[in-house]
Amino acid sequence: MRCDVCESPMDRWDLPPSPWCREIWTCTWCHAVTQVGAGDYEVLRFPYERWNLRWEAAWSDMLADASRHAYGLRNATLCGIEKSDMEGSQFGMWGGRDDDCPDCTAAAQAIDARWPEDRRAGGFRVCVPAASRPAETGSVRPADELGRADVLLPDLPVGPAGRLLPEPAPAHPETGFRTIGDGPDAVRLPAFWAGGGLGQYRPFDQRERHFAWFQAYPLESVPALDDASFTGDFAWFGDIGEPLDHRTAVTDPIAAKLAEDGLTLPADFVALITRAHLHRCLDRAGDCSWTDVAGPVPSPAHPDDRMVLFFRDQQSCLVWYLYLHRDGHYAVVCSGRDYTTEWGLRYRQDGEIAEPVDELYWCAPGVESFAYRFLIEGTLIQAIRDRRPATELTPEALTYLAHYVPAAPHT
Ligand SMILES: [Zn+2]
Ligand SMILES: [Zn+2]
Repeated sequence: MRCDVCESPMDRWDLPPSPWCREIWTCTWCHAVTQVGAGDYEVLRFPYERWNLRWEAAWSDMLADASRHAYGLRNATLCGIEKSDMEGSQFGMWGGRDDDCPDCTAAAQAIDARWPEDRRAGGFRVCVPAASRPAETGSVRPADELGRADVLLPDLPVGPAGRLLPEPAPAHPETGFRTIGDGPDAVRLPAFWAGGGLGQYRPFDQRERHFAWFQAYPLESVPALDDASFTGDFAWFGDIGEPLDHRTAVTDPIAAKLAEDGLTLPADFVALITRAHLHRCLDRAGDCSWTDVAGPVPSPAHPDDRMVLFFRDQQSCLVWYLYLHRDGHYAVVCSGRDYTTEWGLRYRQDGEIAEPVDELYWCAPGVESFAYRFLIEGTLIQAIRDRRPATELTPEALTYLAHYVPAAPHT
């Protein structure tokens, strides 16, 4: 492919095709970007943007001040720093900060100068709309196509499926609350599962508390997991890989800080953050949610408890923490607050001042079971969106979905 802006050759990104985009090409000279097979467009050409508005900030666990740099291409900044995990940040664009990397600034301005003035206008780069898809012009949708209100699921596997408990969920003494820790010192928090909508089977209807695209589903209403089966080894995941040096460099200082207070990081947390195949598995499953480890910070519920932030949604509307009780118990909690950066007073919807602890919610007994549910739901959300046949689901995902889809009467 040749560039429509400067006529130089374009380079194709080494990415597998997805339902959202078949191919991405970048010009080797002016860096104009063209996508093929992208949603409503057969060819989508991004228009000119000014040099200080056009680049994503770089993001890498292996470079402390990554966001000073502009992300270029192929795991490298515009100024040429390469790290194996480097990507463009979902948290923001690059440019306009006092500490912007001067070499990135020079590179961005040099690339900008390669765009001829008369090719910078909004309409210059032409997009080609996609032809309407045959599925939307009257063809019959298969009975087991996910997304149909009357989807017909295949027979469920016989016996237990993965780590799902047979229905119904065992009763819990306290509906809507869970505690962390033992006895009178236990911390009691409102509890729910914060998840995305599963199509129309578990709608995102904003009837419950919600944070961006995550809604608070009562724990009693979500499929029950065999919590005792999660021992921290991620055996259900398969090969979790070796610890990565650049990830233990993230967890080691946190473990050292916690040790000063007599606390330790649980094995499932360390595995999720450091093992090569688990690392960022949640990022790949969720809609742009990101692994981002920070802490420890004191808990708003008790100054001797600690929290370690490990996951956040794209806009940080919801943030997940490992909660470490001073007596050694732990759980996964979530909040609309980033306690690693802000402690200021906020107002609740009823106008009263919200104490920081008012916005802390229990959501899973451990990191491994949190990851298990998050990954199954991520698989289902994508499969429903892509209208996959239900027969393609794993036995666990199928059984999980069947919890929300009433069985069709047998004929
Ligand atoms: Zn070009
Ligand atoms: Zn730079």
